[in-house]
Amino acid sequence: MSKPVILTGLRANNQLHLGNYLGALLPIVKLQKQYAGQYQINLFVPDLHSFTTPIDHSKLYEQSLNNIRLFIAAGLDIKDQDTYIYRQSFVPAHSELTVILNSFTYMGELSRMTQFKEKGSGQSSVSVGLFDYPVLMAADILLYGAKYVPVGADQTQHVELARDIAIRFNNKFGDIFVLPEAEKQQIEFAHSTNRLRIKDLQDPSKKMSKSAGSDKGIIFLGDDPEVARKKILSATTDSFGEIAYDHETRPGISNLMDILSALSGTPLADVQQKYQGLSQYGEFKKDVADAVVNFLKDFNNKLQAVDDQLCLDKISQSEKEVNQLANQTLAKAQKAVGLRQ
Ligand code: AMP
Repeated sequence: MSKPVILTGLRANNQLHLGNYLGALLPIVKLQKQYAGQYQINLFVPDLHSFTTPIDHSKLYEQSLNNIRLFIAAGLDIKDQDTYIYRQSFVPAHSELTVILNSFTYMGELSRMTQFKEKGSGQSSVSVGLFDYPVLMAADILLYGAKYVPVGADQTQHVELARDIAIRFNNKFGDIFVLPEAEKQQIEFAHSTNRLRIKDLQDPSKKMSKSAGSDKGIIFLGDDPEVARKKILSATTDSFGEIAYDHETRPGISNLMDILSALSGTPLADVQQKYQGLSQYGEFKKDVADAVVNFLKDFNNKLQAVDDQLCLDKISQSEKEVNQLANQTLAKAQKAVGLRQ
């Protein structure tokens, strides 16, 4: 019997930062370690999703491949037989199923999506691509009968929509799609992958994000380590004069503790115990800066060492295999709606 599927992706993006690394790349690598053998893991680059908001198209192709290199540098085992690594646009069934599902999805549903409202607000014109991308995401999920789709909180609504569309389709045509698990189970599963929220170093009330006005609060994975050191040393903390971990009242220090714990592999409780009550913020920041510098150097060495040929071979093998899997589901849907006999 085939294994249940976990499906996850990360948008191609030139400037991934420490938040993406700790909140997305690393949890996926851990998930592979934890679940390979029991689950099939579909790790894909949603390259068709990349330009639902404007991008530099001349960089997209390379960025998509680079995303996969980043995963490998972060520890992904590309030799694992249960893991498929592929680019969405190399599996045409994603686009074809989207067109079919469009006719079973309502304008009202898509208009209610928070991401659409947020990303579309204040824009003079909004593309149909941005409006429709949850349907493409539903196709990404349903083609492989994915049970679990570990995503950030901003995407849970879309996973739920995929489930609603599948239920509607199945009610009309019979058992065509495997349903993704319901929201509660998805959240429990995503939570089990322990996703951290890393905050902006200058404004720790906000998450670290490239949409921030300034780069000073963001550690990019490609940052010069000494530039990153300065960013940590000038991070906003507080004026309590005593180190303590509390995201409500001391978001800056708590964020730095999270970063130190994650990058040094020291349990958070041990980090707290070591620094709790100390008044030397400078010493503490220096330790965090050292951990960040070491991490960036090590990560970049690993990135340089990625075997591109091995990576391309894995992608091309996976794309061959997932095309077959996806086409089986697509054929069922085509038959259900009367396009095929
Ligand atoms: P984005 O391109 O900002 O949508 O982020 C892509 C992925 O990285 C999502 O799964 C996010 O959950 C994760 N991510 C982005 N920013 C952060 C952050 N500051 N802390 C933790 N995870 C993040």
